[in-house]
Amino acid sequence: MPTKPVTELDRPRLIQLNTRDNVAIVANDFGLPGGTVIDGGLTLRTFVPQGHKVALVDIAAGAPITRYGETIGTAKIDIIGGTWVEEALVVMPDAPAMGNLPMPAATLARIEPLTGWTFEGYRNVDGSVGTKNILAISTSVQCVAGTLDYAIERIRRELMPHYPNVDGVLGITHSYGCGVAIDAPGAAVPIRTLQNLARNPNFGGQVMVVGLGCEKLAPERLVPERADGHSGKPAVRDILRLQDEAFSGFGPMVDGIIEMARDRLEILNRRRRETCPASDLVVGTQCGGSDAFSGVTANPALGFASDLLVRAGATVMFSEVTEVRDAIHLLTRRAVDADVAKALIREMAWYDAYLDRGGADRSANTTPGNKKGGLSNIVEKALGSIVKSGSSPIAGVLSPGERANQKGLIFAATPASDFICGTLQLASGMTLQVFTTGRGTPYGLAAAPVIKVATRTALAERWHDLIDFDAGRIATGHASIEEAGWDLFRLILDVASGRKKTWADHWGLHNAMTLFNPGPVT
Ligand code: CA
Repeated sequence: MPTKPVTELDRPRLIQLNTRDNVAIVANDFGLPGGTVIDGGLTLRTFVPQGHKVALVDIAAGAPITRYGETIGTAKIDIIGGTWVEEALVVMPDAPAMGNLPMPAATLARIEPLTGWTFEGYRNVDGSVGTKNILAISTSVQCVAGTLDYAIERIRRELMPHYPNVDGVLGITHSYGCGVAIDAPGAAVPIRTLQNLARNPNFGGQVMVVGLGCEKLAPERLVPERADGHSGKPAVRDILRLQDEAFSGFGPMVDGIIEMARDRLEILNRRRRETCPASDLVVGTQCGGSDAFSGVTANPALGFASDLLVRAGATVMFSEVTEVRDAIHLLTRRAVDADVAKALIREMAWYDAYLDRGGADRSANTTPGNKKGGLSNIVEKALGSIVKSGSSPIAGVLSPGERANQKGLIFAATPASDFICGTLQLASGMTLQVFTTGRGTPYGLAAAPVIKVATRTALAERWHDLIDFDAGRIATGHASIEEAGWDLFRLILDVASGRKKTWADHWGLHNAMTLFNPGPVT
């Protein structure tokens, strides 16, 4: 034990989230040693690491272990009060059965409107609003990726200095398009993802597609009907095929891509930010590298901010099926109507079947890092994860890669994989993402700003030039959930307006877009 004087921050602190809980988590950095006496009289019998659970009372073998007011498992053996409740002591319960889930209440809580909040965005002809001004170049097949990368390098060097109002150029490259069962039922997911990615509001409607010429995914399928005043313009003007006989060698192909990009940069460079109501925002939420503080600090702060955004009329998405599956009984009752509740169940059932086909189940979700951070199993992780959806009614459900066309809180079904979730939310029209992390990840997206929120102050301090927001202040008592939630809401508006830059954008840390392909590869 250190011999330095005991300060307020050294005082042993447990966080109990619900009065029904029979476990609490240790808030102190580096954990607490056996023999520590907690305010209220509990004495720790063993060392308990930070973020890990301690039994507040004796828990008999087979009795429920309760956190968030919900059962996260049962005790494998008798657990004496004051003992570290390690993962091995927790028996995971079955996932809630789909058959008899609670349906929405007859009258849902009314949403109290929040007016007067604005941001500076790029309004598009179709009414959507971007937070960035990016030229995105779509591709219909992986074969063209190397050539496109080469062309983009030249675009960055030769063209971009002439178009100072354009934030960047981005190739939407991927492993799909050929060598796949293009008509299999699962193919609908990657195809609509690519179609809708091209329409993301941050790309200003300036679509162009680079294809090869012999691939299964015809480039025409990726060109949406234009809503930018160019209606009726033949799609062929938006497509370049490397096998086109007009190209004699590599140089002219690259020149062709560059000329096509120049036309679009001319248009994008004329875009200007204008004041838009907060209701024009489409904010995605997700978590990655979660720990036991995720559900205590970062996710509740994000949930509070989500509620503010919904009250302001914005669209807010939460996702990650395997991280909400075990809390589905808490979500169906929050749906605006029975149809939305059934759509939630449909997406869960689809994913259950998908995992089953692969010989896996939901327990495959938790990582070694999650467990080291104090999360015993997927039930505990899910309860902490859904907190970031706040308390608003769930207004709609999207299948993977579908585009959102409504306001309010939406469940956008995606895998929990950070990159696939980010890509699918972009396809759904997300223009800014908030990402909570306990273990830490330098995750970022080129297509939309990502605000990274740390669950613990120690992480926010150690990663001072990667983390944008410290929600750990909630655990140390320096901020309430409400205060942190309001701060995060204001940060979202600042970042959406280009007034503040995220650290990921500052350093240019941008992960690959990654398609979700549940269909067979040939
Ligand atoms: Ca994730």
